[in-house]
Amino acid sequence: MPELPEVETVKRAISPALAGQCIKSVRLTRSDLRWPLPDGMAAHLTGQRCGEPRRRAKYIMVPLEDNTTLLVHLGMSGAIRLYDNKPEFGTHDHFSLEMETGSWMVFSDPRRFGHLDIIPAGGEAEHPLLSHLGIEPLSNHLSGPWLSDVLRGKKTPIKSALLDQRLIAGLGNIYVNEALHMSGISPRRLAQTIAGKRAEKLVIAIRTVLAAAIEAGGTSLRDHVQPGGEIGYFVQRLSVYGRTSEPCLTCATPIKELRQSGRASFYCPSCQR
Ligand SMILES: [Zn+2]
Repeated sequence: MPELPEVETVKRAISPALAGQCIKSVRLTRSDLRWPLPDGMAAHLTGQRCGEPRRRAKYIMVPLEDNTTLLVHLGMSGAIRLYDNKPEFGTHDHFSLEMETGSWMVFSDPRRFGHLDIIPAGGEAEHPLLSHLGIEPLSNHLSGPWLSDVLRGKKTPIKSALLDQRLIAGLGNIYVNEALHMSGISPRRLAQTIAGKRAEKLVIAIRTVLAAAIEAGGTSLRDHVQPGGEIGYFVQRLSVYGRTSEPCLTCATPIKELRQSGRASFYCPSCQR
């Protein structure tokens, strides 16, 4: 499932193809993905000039010249490919934009957990997918004092609190596991005990793991993505995620796995307290 760094990588990759360019035609093969798509979406998009794409949590937002916004959510298995010319379309290529330059952006979604929407002008704050979202982890809003403040009195494990999209938006399971390992915090530690230096350390770890993954995504774009290649899926070095029984990279203790609210947690029982 694409997480924040993957979505950021996709956003950066499609930006040169979309920003400042008019949409010449829209190819839409379905009226729904995870949910019904807005009526008249293809007609609405055709002929509009796109602004610079933005990311909010795991959503890509493309501003349009009529002040509406195209929202793209990759869901579980969605992928975006770019082509210099009209491609051969596959079965799962449900949504494609032809730009005035002749290039194409193709959204394919085999499992159809993705979503597309047109957000009316000024309607972002009320949009059902966006209205409940917390702060961006890479923004200046995330700080040690802010984190200890929102965690005060919370008796849930820190792992669950960090996955709560109403607090910090776009943090997913992989990077929460990685950030907890980097900051030496057990996924089971009660959220309310994260304060002071420990909160500072966790904030730095969250920023560091996300920034490293975005950097890896950028490298994958420069080095590997061919025209028509799927963007945003890249190999990166993970310290704990998926490494059950393998030695901790810091202290060589075997990594343990446990389930918390249905999600897998990976941690070093020696370095993480
Ligand atoms: Zn360790």
